[in-house]
Amino acid sequence: MDIIRITDIEVYANHGVMPEERILGQKFVISAEIHMDFSPAALSGNLDKTINYAQVCQFINDYTQDNTYELIETLAESLTIEILNRFTLAERVDIEVKKPWAPIGLPVSNVSVKVSRSRHTVYVALGSNMGDKEGYLWGAVDALNALDNFKVSKVSDFVVTEPYGGVEQDDFLNGVLEGETTMTPLQLLEALNSIEEGAGRTREVHWGPRTLDLDIIFYDDEIIDSERLTIPHRDMHRRDFVLAPLKQIAPWKRHPVIGKTVEEMYEEL
Ligand code: ATP
Ligand code: MG
Ligand code: MG
Repeated sequence: MDIIRITDIEVYANHGVMPEERILGQKFVISAEIHMDFSPAALSGNLDKTINYAQVCQFINDYTQDNTYELIETLAESLTIEILNRFTLAERVDIEVKKPWAPIGLPVSNVSVKVSRSRHTVYVALGSNMGDKEGYLWGAVDALNALDNFKVSKVSDFVVTEPYGGVEQDDFLNGVLEGETTMTPLQLLEALNSIEEGAGRTREVHWGPRTLDLDIIFYDDEIIDSERLTIPHRDMHRRDFVLAPLKQIAPWKRHPVIGKTVEEMYEEL
C-alpha cells in the first residue's frame, strides 16, 4: 500500500478534560498517514485520481478547531473516520494527536494518541415476509446508503423463498448486498437494528413473520463469537436464500472458518 504522510500540523484548539482547557485552548500537533493505491494517479498524472493533501491538511485544521472534545482519543478517532468518509480513495487512515502543553505538572515533552482505522467490506442479508416486501428491502438499501459511513456497492436480485424454521407464515423475499463501511461490527449491528425498527420490525416469534431482517453475513474475513454477534453468520452456509443471492455478487468470497467459497458452499447445499 502507498502512503501520504502529513507530519505535525499545528492547530490551536479547545480539547481537554479540564474546563479551562476547553475555554482557553492550547496547541495540538497532528500527523496523518493515508494509505491508498497511487498507481492510477501515478500512471495518469491526474490529481483527481489521488488525494489532495492540501485538502486533507485544511480539513484536519478546520475539524480540530470547529469541535471540542474532552479526550484527544475522541478527536483522533473522529478525524480518522471523517477522513475515511470524505476521501473515498483512502483505504486506511492513521492519525496521531500530540498535546505538548498537556496540564501534567511535570517536564513531559509530549503526550499523544494514535488511531488507525480502515474501510471494511461487508455482506448483509436482507429478508422480508410482511406487507410491501420489495419496498422494505429497497428501503433498507436506501437507508444504508444514506448513512455517511456506509456505501452500498452491489445488490443481488431478490428471490422468493419458503419460510424457514417451521413457523406457519407468508413467503419471504430475500437478497444480499455488499457494502463498504468504517463502522465496527457492533456499530453496524446497531445501525441495522435501527433500520429494522424504522421498518416497524418487532421481535415476537423467533424466525416468525417480519417486515425486515438484516443480518451480517461477512465482515472482511473477521471471525467473531460474542454474546451479540456471530460472524460469519452462524447458519449462512445452510441457507439457500442467503447463498443463492450471495453467489450472484461474490461467488469467489471464501468463508474464513469453513474454508470454502460461496460458490462451493452453494453447490454442496
Ligand atoms: P437468524 O439470525 O437465525 O437469521 P433472526 O435474524 O430472525 O435469526 P433476529 O431476531 O434478527 O434473528 O436477531 C437475534 C439476535 O441475533 C440479534 O439481537 C443479534 O444480536 C444476534 N446476531 C448474532 N449474530 C448476528 C449477525 N451476524 N447478524 C445479525 N444479528 C446477529
Ligand atoms: Mg435472520
Ligand atoms: Mg436478524
